[in-house]
Amino acid sequence: MLMDDDNQLKCPVCGETQTHINQVLVAGRFEDEREKYLQVDALNAAVFIPDEVPGVQGRRHRIALQVDCEFGHTSYLIFRQHKGCTLVEVAKEEAR
Ligand SMILES: [Zn+2]
Repeated sequence: MLMDDDNQLKCPVCGETQTHINQVLVAGRFEDEREKYLQVDALNAAVFIPDEVPGVQGRRHRIALQVDCEFGHTSYLIFRQHKGCTLVEVAKEEAR
């Protein structure tokens, strides 16, 4: 489960609730067209173009919230639009 009993987001790697969402990555597109990438850095109030956006490609948009936990784990909470539905997925970054 993504949340604890107090609705606090848990790190999907270690389960701790000390998490921060500072980066929002977007893969936007009209149905089946080429994706266009965008990243919002909330810490620095900056916007730029990332090399990639985590998650599986659907027919439309994909929005990934980067979740950084205070214990060094990075994961992504991903909302993917596909065939009229919004799928919610979690992707864990591979250990470096
Ligand atoms: Zn963690």
